[in-house]
Amino acid sequence: MIEMPELPEVETVLRTLKPKVLSRKINRVTVFNEKTIKKPDAATFTRCLEGQQITDINRHGKYLLFELSFSMVLVVHLRMTGRLIYKDSSVSPDRYTCIIFHLDEGKEIHFQDVRKFGTMYLIRCDELDSFPPLCILGPDALDPQLTPDLFIKRLERRNGQVKGVLLNQSFIAGIGNIYANEILWTAGIHPERRVDSLRSWEKERLYHAVREVLSTAVKLRGTSLRDYVDGDGNRGEYQHHRRVHRREGEPCPLCGHPIIRIKQGGRSSYYCKICQN
Ligand SMILES: [Zn+2]
Repeated sequence: MIEMPELPEVETVLRTLKPKVLSRKINRVTVFNEKTIKKPDAATFTRCLEGQQITDINRHGKYLLFELSFSMVLVVHLRMTGRLIYKDSSVSPDRYTCIIFHLDEGKEIHFQDVRKFGTMYLIRCDELDSFPPLCILGPDALDPQLTPDLFIKRLERRNGQVKGVLLNQSFIAGIGNIYANEILWTAGIHPERRVDSLRSWEKERLYHAVREVLSTAVKLRGTSLRDYVDGDGNRGEYQHHRRVHRREGEPCPLCGHPIIRIKQGGRSSYYCKICQN
């Protein structure tokens, strides 16, 4: 089973890369896997990036946004197994390296991707707001402007099961399967509950669970159950703090009953039948 990087993992990649690559110039780009590049074509992508300086790095949900000096943005989505790792140019690329960004002062960023589902787009800054993968995203799940009121208003416009709504990036952006399971346990809400059946105090509790679980996971530098590493190649720590995710049959940390696993929309949901209803 593969866990995809979610908000805490992508934020950790950002935090590890940013101090190292900010203001650095991209001298050259080597492409080993053209399919990673979704827009424009690989030759234009490479030519346009050469000579640009990285002026800022931001994140929206699971997307990383490298702002560049020629009013362009490099948009990166790690998907299942993508990794962005900062390296010395003396280090030779491994067999999963899809793209190398050669920076000044003998440094490089290697984009490695075992499954090769990761994607990159190079677009103009003024295209950002109308760019399909980004313009359909809801507010980032840790956006300071996402207040309980706004969260609840957005939630009340949705229907269906609460787990599916949390995973829907157009509701709020950044949550995947690991943290959806952890959030629902923290909120005491059964993953199959329908959104329209939630009481107002449950909606409020869900909001606080989203913020608490994600910010704890950011502090612990993400979850490394399998592939995920940060921009320095280091693993996260949240896997040691999971309450329910991939803990089927193990005791619930609150009541001791065994954690249950069910399939929901093709993904595994883990929950406690005593603590979540
Ligand atoms: Zn329990």
